[in-house]
Amino acid sequence: MSNCIFCKIVNGEIPSSKVFENEHVVAFLDIGQVTKGHTLVVPKVHKENIYELTPELARNLFEVVPKISSSIKEQFNPIGLNLLNNNGEKAGQSIFHYHMHIIPRYGKGDGFG
Ligand code: 5GP
Ligand code: ZN
Repeated sequence: MSNCIFCKIVNGEIPSSKVFENEHVVAFLDIGQVTKGHTLVVPKVHKENIYELTPELARNLFEVVPKISSSIKEQFNPIGLNLLNNNGEKAGQSIFHYHMHIIPRYGKGDGFG
């Protein structure tokens, strides 16, 4: 999609801090980090939300989440970690290209929840 920010990040048209990339998926740091190491995992193809993911794409996407989570754990040493996916404006979705948030947690007052 030509006016989609995450498609532009996938294509390298706008910069991002990438932490992982393979044939199907890119992960990069969220620009508005709610906690240190807040990362987004996105499919390279434009899919608006969870309802548009094929089983194959869902497999490709979720397959890499444990590995990315482990490397965040190693790098930032959080005491916990939330996975979050907003679908629809009323559920808090603001970018309409599917993404999974990985949010490291550092305890009370860490800025999230
Ligand atoms: P949503 O509210 O749709 O679940 O999450 C969208 C996320 O994308 C937000 O956490 C926001 O900070 C992040 N975001 C928006 N624009 C950009 C951008 O240009 N670059 C990066 N890295 N993150 C972005
Ligand atoms: Zn897109």
